[in-house]
Amino acid sequence: MTSPIWHPYAHLKSQAPSPKVVGGEGPRFTLETGESLLDATCSWWCMIHGYRHRRLVEAIQRQADELCHVMLGGLTHESADRLARELVRVTPEGLNHVFFSDSGSVGMEVAMKMAVQYHYLRGKPAKHRMLTLMKAYHGDTAGCMAVCDPEEGMHSLFAGFLPQHYFAPAPTAGFEAGEDEVQADLDALRGVLEAHHEKIGALLMEPLLQAAGGLNMTSPHYLRGARALCDEFDVLLIFDEVATGFGRTGKMFAADHADVTPDIMVLSKGLTGGYLGHAATLATDHVHDAFIGDSELHAFMHGPTFMGNPLACRVALESLAVFEEDDYLGRIQALNDVLREELLDDAELRAHPDVADVRVLGATAVIEVHDAETLEGVAGFARRQGVWLRPFGHWLYTMPAYITSSNDLRRITDVMKHWFNARHVPSTSQ
Ligand SMILES: *Cc1c(COP(=O)(O)O)cnc(C)c1O
Repeated sequence: MTSPIWHPYAHLKSQAPSPKVVGGEGPRFTLETGESLLDATCSWWCMIHGYRHRRLVEAIQRQADELCHVMLGGLTHESADRLARELVRVTPEGLNHVFFSDSGSVGMEVAMKMAVQYHYLRGKPAKHRMLTLMKAYHGDTAGCMAVCDPEEGMHSLFAGFLPQHYFAPAPTAGFEAGEDEVQADLDALRGVLEAHHEKIGALLMEPLLQAAGGLNMTSPHYLRGARALCDEFDVLLIFDEVATGFGRTGKMFAADHADVTPDIMVLSKGLTGGYLGHAATLATDHVHDAFIGDSELHAFMHGPTFMGNPLACRVALESLAVFEEDDYLGRIQALNDVLREELLDDAELRAHPDVADVRVLGATAVIEVHDAETLEGVAGFARRQGVWLRPFGHWLYTMPAYITSSNDLRRITDVMKHWFNARHVPSTSQ
């Protein structure tokens, strides 16, 4: 019997049956068939410690024994309180207030509502639109779909259902670009702000790495320039660090590369090490204090049932402790060295006729192809070699768990490269 599960992003007519996962250990998970697959994606980028990490499993068990859940409306508890303090400690200076929710999309909805209400409370109710970037991805809920890339994104058919926002071009200067080279990208942002700032409440971006919209990378100078423009036009800066947070770009947060503090910052995916769904929206005193007032409208009207869930908070605390005690930033640097050596420095790969670009940042690498059909069959090809890869669109990428060894990472990059080598021989290209 086919399963009643409706799978995400699946084409129902052509989808292959989904293999059943029965367990996992370190960077691998195991299938019912006995196959063990090295996960090159760490399960949509969140399982940063890999599977069945002792300390994380035990943290959940201990918390489950004490308190599995309690509402955060009018109540608090130790794990939420400690996690909020820890997030304030590790995030950029000035982000002193933490609003919990249950997923990255909802964390972004919270951020956008906060920005709109902030301007309303300061007497600028017209500033209720967002400025977002082409190639952006901020989640799948309605509010988030409206700020995703409207053309490339997965949501174009919903255009009539969504509120209208302002879009600026995606940044074009790469991570290494200097101040001069990002000027054209910043001028494009300025253009939209000059024309529409009276209606714009916040500029949203995935700092340095636009993830699900095509792994587009940009420079820390772009973040600094965006910060200055937001100050000039009285627009809040929102960093969506759902994908970039917790080490993915090589520093704890992408904002750290630029020494920039956004007004609002959203964390999810790696927050709990992937062990439970949760998110945090952080705000500066400046944003928070605008909500201190006498009218009914000063309350922030949002409150997901599972916000501050004790199990999620406890495992997030343990995840952060492991991150720091086991020198994850050092591990990420080692992974980055391998990715650069194996992919960026491979002249043959970069010159391959199917390959448009190869990019590496922190523990992220992507091979972009000219034609998306080039990647058809790559998941099956990888699986036969014991690797789980899940390319999308024009992008074959890896975002491995940080506990992945250099040898295992080379296994992943070898499979990625062999796909292109194999494509020269018609009999093996499938
Ligand atoms: C995954 C992602 C989201 C959405 O998070 P969900 O937990 O899937 O709702 C938002 N923003 C970015 C940058 C993401 O990568």
